[in-house]
Amino acid sequence: MRSISVLGATGSIGESAFDLLMRAGEPETFRTIALTGASNVARLAEMARALRAEIAVTAMPEKLPELREALAGTGIEAAAGPEAIAEAAARPADWTLSAIIGAAGLPPGLEVLRRGGTLALANKESLVAAGRLVMAEAARSGARILPVDSEHSAIFQSLNGENLEQVESVTITASGGAFRDWPLERLARATVSEASCHPNWAMGQRITIDSASMFNKALEVIETHEFFGIDEERIRVLVHPQSIIHAFVSHRDGASIAHMGAPDMRHAIGYALNWPHRAALPVAALDLAALGSLTFSAPDETRWPALRLAREVIRAGGAAGAVLNAAKEQALDDFIAGRIGFMDMAPAVERALEACARETGFSASPASLDDVLAWDLRGRRLAASTAGAA
Ligand code: NAD
Ligand code: MG
Repeated sequence: MRSISVLGATGSIGESAFDLLMRAGEPETFRTIALTGASNVARLAEMARALRAEIAVTAMPEKLPELREALAGTGIEAAAGPEAIAEAAARPADWTLSAIIGAAGLPPGLEVLRRGGTLALANKESLVAAGRLVMAEAARSGARILPVDSEHSAIFQSLNGENLEQVESVTITASGGAFRDWPLERLARATVSEASCHPNWAMGQRITIDSASMFNKALEVIETHEFFGIDEERIRVLVHPQSIIHAFVSHRDGASIAHMGAPDMRHAIGYALNWPHRAALPVAALDLAALGSLTFSAPDETRWPALRLAREVIRAGGAAGAVLNAAKEQALDDFIAGRIGFMDMAPAVERALEACARETGFSASPASLDDVLAWDLRGRRLAASTAGAA
């Protein structure tokens, strides 16, 4: 019997994980320690009851009375606030899924690594903002990180233990998001609801908009660099509208090993949950004859400046990733709130990066959580103050 925790249980990834855990015959197979969420405490309480969790934590202190009430009589502890989430993450568990959205996932993820637990990492933002720190903490404690982002799980599976030094390149695919076929002129007027519909994947709203702007792929290029330690020149991006090939690894002998599968996050989550074994998962089998054809094209960096920014950030090093991530989160907040247009997001991020480069440079890679948070705050402020500027 393994003990598990899910951080961000009520989100899109969290719901997929919940589905897998319920199917796995919990509580016979798994013992649930902690589940965390934010505003939807009714769902959090429902999940905690179903999985008989030890503790349920909401990020929002004002929601604590509602959570307590929903868990009354169950014996399940209730807690609230970011510190309580970090404390819940620090409780021993064999396997912890980090599926919180944004930089808020970094502090609890670090707690898991500090105690040497296995961290199934969907929260790509923690690698973008603090890749060095995250990987160093895992190396220090002996914690294992299993990638849950579909492309990174695909690379991990395609590598199958082969030496990365010998790999010619890794390629991650991008569906192209909601606006793949839109003319450039129309993109400036794209609305939040138009950007929130993904052609292939059902995901949370923020990552869906990031897919439409290609910022999701930009984060993933940095995530690939940080997690696998592969240099930027050997990381490629390919637009592949069907989202069947998630990534491939190309070797110097001319062979490329690709990972294929239906676009269903339960594969990557289930792979990490069962690793190093493969278990039956409720994911549709691949039917290539029914699909007929798979198509590919090179991404257009004029259309998607986010990809160029990702490469610049990797080359700049230091705290550039923390600034890009924070500026992107701020620009996304501003777009969702209607303060800036869809095509204003990348320029806002670029101005924040340029201002940092000009004022202080990106210094060394953040060596502590406080350091990351300071750069994060600066990135958000710079993106907010430059939003809408010419
Ligand atoms: P989501 O918005 O659907 O869910 C986010 C979860 O985090 C929810 O449980 C929410 O309550 C919680 N949360 C939100 N703000 C919080 C805060 N400030 N503090 C603590 N908890 C907070 O997001 P998602 O689409 O499930 O994505 C989760 C993570 O997984 C992200 O890092 C995303 O990039 C990554 N990811 C998602 C997908 C996908 O298919 N959705 C695929 C690959 C990677
Ligand atoms: Mg992905």
